[in-house]
Amino acid sequence: MPRPIAASIDRAALRHNYLLARRHASRGGGRAKAWAVVKANAYGHGLLRAAAALADVADGFALLDIDEAVRLREAGIRQPILLLEGFFETADLAVCLTHDLSVVIHRLEQLQMLRQARLPRCLPIYLKLNTGMNRLGLSAPQLPAVRRELEAMAAASELGELTLMTHFAEADVEGGEQCIDWQLERFAGMTADWPDVASWQVSMANSAAILRYPKTAHDWVRPGIMLYGGSPFAAEDATSLDLKPVMTLRSRILAVQEIAVGERVGYGGTFVAQRPTRVGVVACGYADGYPRHAPGGTPIVVAGQRTQTLGRVSMDMLACDLTDCPAAGVDSPVVLWGEGMPADEVAAAAGTISYELFCALARRVPVCDVLA
Ligand SMILES: *Cc1c(COP(=O)(O)O)cnc(C)c1O
Repeated sequence: MPRPIAASIDRAALRHNYLLARRHASRGGGRAKAWAVVKANAYGHGLLRAAAALADVADGFALLDIDEAVRLREAGIRQPILLLEGFFETADLAVCLTHDLSVVIHRLEQLQMLRQARLPRCLPIYLKLNTGMNRLGLSAPQLPAVRRELEAMAAASELGELTLMTHFAEADVEGGEQCIDWQLERFAGMTADWPDVASWQVSMANSAAILRYPKTAHDWVRPGIMLYGGSPFAAEDATSLDLKPVMTLRSRILAVQEIAVGERVGYGGTFVAQRPTRVGVVACGYADGYPRHAPGGTPIVVAGQRTQTLGRVSMDMLACDLTDCPAAGVDSPVVLWGEGMPADEVAAAAGTISYELFCALARRVPVCDVLA
């Protein structure tokens, strides 16, 4: 028998969350389409599994890796696919063309490469503007050169569909509205004197912006974490946003130790029993992707009852307090996060965000589907 740990993926929940994102994006009265962001192996949920779950509803799929894009095409995905960092070298362009990929252009050199490649067909382009995130994107002083490139391409009938794009730095932050408005203002300012700009599509919003700032939805939104049921906000839980957990990480109790007052638990003895304590040992550790820096006291569900971890997380195991869970014992089911134990709470206790928990799920953990 394999170790009792496994992650299950609820495809119906993923679809629910995707459709919710798209409904939110249309609150402003428009009809925004939604890129399902499936980068990083669909935030740890499995690229092909996530794509299959969304295949008949998603408007498109967005990711980073050109090989992953090809895998989606080979799996039969017909929708547009967007490469969020664009292409890395000229040789990538042939693959983009063969597989009909849309590309982000975030550096002037990419545009020059594209023009010089003289492709037999035009690729849809997402022109990414740096409006304040200062990570990727074209900055204002580069725009005259960008415009010259675009005009040269248009004159040679080598310019395909164009979408303007930017990314928000503080959509998830309390009081981030000022930053959003400032980025929107810059965005408008950067393109104000472009003659065709009104006819171009616009894509700005990630999950946080979709949920909080409907005015940013425009033509295409880009939900990521909300698809997987994580709240982008520290102070608002997923349930209140009507998001459903997609990944549930489950295991079982391997052993129980009854310890006396003053005994310690685990490496470093960081937990010291203040009362006679029943310690449950769970088959899950940091080599499974559970965060090692989750301190004692991190919430966990055993036999349907909420309790907390004790002491340090080991490589293959962690300890939890079963003193007040008389029904729990060896073999009792454990939920580390997911159904009944919000990943956001575990992440917050560990000083991180659910994105990181999901992405860190280790390869050795078997993944299965929730049967509808
Ligand atoms: C990852 C990513 C997103 C999705 O962000 P979430 O916060 O997970 O919704 C959207 N746009 C870009 C450019 C991204 O890289």
